Amino acid sequence: MSLELNDVTLTYPDGAGRLTALDRVGLRVPAGTVTAVIGPSGSGKSSLLAVAAALVTPDSGTVVINGTDTTGMSRGALTALRRDTVGMVFQQPHLLPSLTAVEQVQLMAHLAGRGVRRARSRALELLAAVGLSDVAGRRPHQLSGGQRQRLNIARALMNDPAVLLVDEPTSALDHERGAAVLELLVALTRQGARSTVLVTHDRSHLAAVDRVVEVRDGRLTAGAAAGA
Ligand code: ADP
Ligand code: MG
Repeated sequence: MSLELNDVTLTYPDGAGRLTALDRVGLRVPAGTVTAVIGPSGSGKSSLLAVAAALVTPDSGTVVINGTDTTGMSRGALTALRRDTVGMVFQQPHLLPSLTAVEQVQLMAHLAGRGVRRARSRALELLAAVGLSDVAGRRPHQLSGGQRQRLNIARALMNDPAVLLVDEPTSALDHERGAAVLELLVALTRQGARSTVLVTHDRSHLAAVDRVVEVRDGRLTAGAAAGA
């Protein structure tokens, strides 16, 4: 399965007119691969993720998530599709202060109405996969920035998403921790045969990804070769 954006245009109201945030964007992310999206601030990177997550409906074009064309789907159906197939990692982890690491991850399964007992063991597995077994019982304020970002990733994987969308995961981390988070995302993408889109300002870790594209003024161009 994969993620596909076909000829997607997205505009926002802007005074009397419209601002074109995405201009006929086409992108295909095969399963098991990571595409990095780079580009200056305001170029449309977060808009691209919002469209790919079916959080925002484009003016025109189609978004196909894991084989499902989202065009014309109801809000309820989109919410269900997102819950079952899309994992999102935001720049700032919105962790709940009163919950431990394992509870934050488990919560995602509760929200999806999945079994509680299985949820705890899966949450612990995911914490192990991101290297947080030792701190499963800690609350967010007892974790470092890098640990919180890894927890954020574990949480996004709880419902085993086919599509993983990640907005600037390394921006709050130093170089070494940023590289570790990126390596982790690549490994989790391969293992789960996910289609991952990773927005980043940080060009230094791009060697690890399969493809790099660049957004400028809402237009997608082939970016610098990975590792360049
Ligand atoms: P990036 O993530 O690359 O910084 P964005 O996708 O956030 O870029 O923004 C692309 C353009 O769309 C910018 O000009 C931004 O100001 C505008 N924009 C983003 N979100 C909205 C919104 N909800 N309403 C109006 N304009 C928006
Ligand atoms: Mg952004």
